Amino acid sequence: MSFALHEVAKAYGHDRRATPALAGVSFAARGAEFLTIVGPSGCGKTTLLKIIAGLIAPSAGRVAFDDPAGARLRTSLVFQDHGLLPWYDVHENVALGLRFQDVGRAEARERARHFIVQVGLERFLRHHPHELSIGMRQRVGIARAFVADPQILLLDEPFGSLDAQTKLVLQQELLRIWQEHRKLVVHVTHDIEEAILLSDRILVMSGRPGRIREEIRVPFARPRDLGVLDTRDAADIRRRIWDILEEEVRQSLWVPQ
Ligand code: ADP
Repeated sequence: MSFALHEVAKAYGHDRRATPALAGVSFAARGAEFLTIVGPSGCGKTTLLKIIAGLIAPSAGRVAFDDPAGARLRTSLVFQDHGLLPWYDVHENVALGLRFQDVGRAEARERARHFIVQVGLERFLRHHPHELSIGMRQRVGIARAFVADPQILLLDEPFGSLDAQTKLVLQQELLRIWQEHRKLVVHVTHDIEEAILLSDRILVMSGRPGRIREEIRVPFARPRDLGVLDTRDAADIRRRIWDILEEEVRQSLWVPQ
């Protein structure tokens, strides 16, 4: 399983009012790797995921998939705000992940139940989103993404709206489920620690328009725990990422260097 972006650019709007969001982005991802794109807000990370998912077309460049017919690989996208349907319960929301596949209702519900158990929510099958905490809703979103068994899992700041402790627990849960159901993941975040903890490889982006500035391999074996963040390798990676991001953040705040 692999795909590659070749010189992808994206501008929103037209002519003199166009906002360039991405410029000349090229990279490849393959196998069951966990790839993270780190960058400041507004550098085009979400735009990039939407292009990979086929939700928007690039203004220039192309995305190539390794499918024999050249078809787009099947993707699931997890957003920061989970995107659950409020009138459906947990079980139905997760089963919805299979809606566009040729899976009968009984089987969809059975498979959904399996992933709901995996994220520890079996007691909440009949609850509706408003009855759940934000962390629990995000777990439902993750279960829904995995149940669809996508060829590429796209994660857009999935833990961005969680408090620090809940985030740590959910990051570990995501790693555990991914370890069991390995697949190609493209994850975007502005959280450096999260990128180091989760990824095999990190691409660092700068913004306006978004470009890839650096590629970093994360050397830690799996399964991993939080201890990897205390190592010298992690400190080095943190510094390399922050060297790029600090400049960006200062520019966006107009802070003198
Ligand atoms: P990120 O996910 O890194 O925060 P986005 O991909 O959401 O970045 O946005 C990149 C840039 O494109 C930003 O300047 C944003 O304002 C702009 N942008 C995003 N979506 C649209 C849109 N639908 N119309 C116009 N501009 C947009």
